[in-house]
Order: sequence, then structure tokens, then C-alpha cells
Amino acid sequence: MKRSALRWVAGIAAMAVAAAAATAWRMPEVAAWQWYFRAGRPEMSALKPELDVGLRWFDDYYAVADLGGNAFAIGEPRYGQCNFSYLIVGSRRALVFDSGPGVRDIAPVVRALSSLPVVALPSHLHFDHVGNLDHFANVALPDLPALRAQAPNNVLSFGFYQFLGFVEGFRRRDVRVTEWVRPDTEIDLGDRRLQLLSVPGHTPDSVVLLDRAANRLFAGDFIYPSSIYAFLPGANLRDYSLSAARLAARLDDDSTVYGAHGCDRLPLVDLPILRKADVLALGRATAAAGRPGEAVGHGIYPREIPVNQKMKLLAKYPWMSP
Ligand SMILES: [Zn+2]
Repeated sequence: MKRSALRWVAGIAAMAVAAAAATAWRMPEVAAWQWYFRAGRPEMSALKPELDVGLRWFDDYYAVADLGGNAFAIGEPRYGQCNFSYLIVGSRRALVFDSGPGVRDIAPVVRALSSLPVVALPSHLHFDHVGNLDHFANVALPDLPALRAQAPNNVLSFGFYQFLGFVEGFRRRDVRVTEWVRPDTEIDLGDRRLQLLSVPGHTPDSVVLLDRAANRLFAGDFIYPSSIYAFLPGANLRDYSLSAARLAARLDDDSTVYGAHGCDRLPLVDLPILRKADVLALGRATAAAGRPGEAVGHGIYPREIPVNQKMKLLAKYPWMSP
């Protein structure tokens, strides 16, 4: 072969290797697009959900559970991702933690459960947790520098991969932020205080709420029964394991952990409840998955790593884009 032809072949091979490496590094985004090509619209459950004791239908879409102590779970068992949002009521105001994907308006459910002023706070900014935020006059966000920078004049515009709504055809709608809550401080609802903790891992801006008096943790997508997503854009396994350790230190064996997704035993729908031991198990799995060079789990992408009987971790590789 002539020298110039050799140089051509080497150049094309180098470009192919570079393209493959760039694609691999950007695999979280590629995974989101694969999801888009599979669904592209809200996925609805094909099974007719049967509610476990404690849950009751609010209408033909929402299911509600009274958790006692003036807190409620609001589930969407007909929606493919089976979201659970939580309403926590104080003496002066109430807080709704997550607001679902917006397949249906959640505000009437909230109003039926409490007549107090309501503030909505999302656990993170994926589309299935912020869908109805614009139906609330008061919206709180964690006071994180990155989110502040995204919200000039307190109007937050969602990032494309931060929101991810394109995978199910949801549009981004700006949100007016009325309250910024510093991590580790408490939200006072009147005779009820919720501590907001920053728990990067699932996304960089994920938060949870700790009700110490009731020994309850509202965990968002940080932990819930079934598959934990740690492979989408923004996920970080090292952060995940550190956050799990920090959280576990604040829990005891009697703590109740409420997750944001359920329906892991369809057609039976029960509350997505976990314990401290599950947080510890997730911490071990994310730590193992996040160590460079450690080959854990199976499958190519995302890697599937068993956590315990209730959960498995869907993880990216530590070297991938954060
Ligand atoms: Zn979610």
C-alpha cells in the first residue's frame, strides 16, 4: 500500500476510535435517546392496579394513603413509572414533595387533603417529579449554586438532560421559585419541621426531607423498591455512595423511608417503603460500582448490580460524563 493510502486508513481508524470513545463517554445521553425511541410518550401501565390496604382511589387515576401524623402519599399507579408524591401537613402550611409527571393535575388531590397554603418542592428536576409545579403558587427549591445560576429573577429554566422530558414527550415549562432552602436547614410548616438534605447521586441536585420527630425520610428517587437509576445524565456513583452513608447515619432501625416510585409487585400496588438497612445496602452497591476498575454487575450498559431482594442498581461506569 502506498504511504498516502496508509495515512488515510490510519486517519479514518483514529477518527472511528475517537467517535466510539466520545459515544461511550456520552452513553448516559445515548441511553436517554434510546428510551425516547422506545416510548416518546407517557408510558401507561397495561395492568389494572389493585390497591393494597391503606391505599384508596381518589379518582380514576390517583391513589391516596393516609400515613398518619398528618402526612399523605399520593400515588399514580396507572402511570408506567408509578410515581408517589407526598403531602406533609403542619399547623400553618403544607408541603408537597414532588408533583408527578403531569399526566394529570395533582393540585385538586392536594387541595382535597389540606386547605392550608401549600408549597411544592421537587426531590430533583426529572420530568416525572416536576410536571405539575406550575400549578402551585409557592415553589421551593434547594439553594444550590447551580440551581441559583439557572434561575435569574427566580425563574428556573430546566436543562434538556436535567429534565429529560423528551423521553416521554413532556415539554419543559419554566417555574417561578418563591423560596430557596439551604441544605441542612429546616423547613418550618408550623409544629412540624422538615430538614432538607442534599444527596447528590441520582442527580447532582437531588434532595430528601427528614422528619425527625416522626422518624420518616422522604427520599425521592434516591432510593425506592425496584430498579435504582444511576446511569442517566448527571448521575454520579461516588456521590451516591457518600450520600447514602450520610443518610444512613441519620436513620435508625425504626425509621421509615418513603420512595418516589412503587408498583414493584404489580398488579398489587403498595407503598414504596424501605428501611435503613436498604440505604446501607444501596451505599455498598454504589460504592462498588463507582470504584474505577471494579467489574461488578452484568450487562454492558447500564450495568445491572443486585443490591438486595428489593432493589437493583442500574449503573453507568465511573469514567463516564457526570
Ligand atoms: Zn423519578
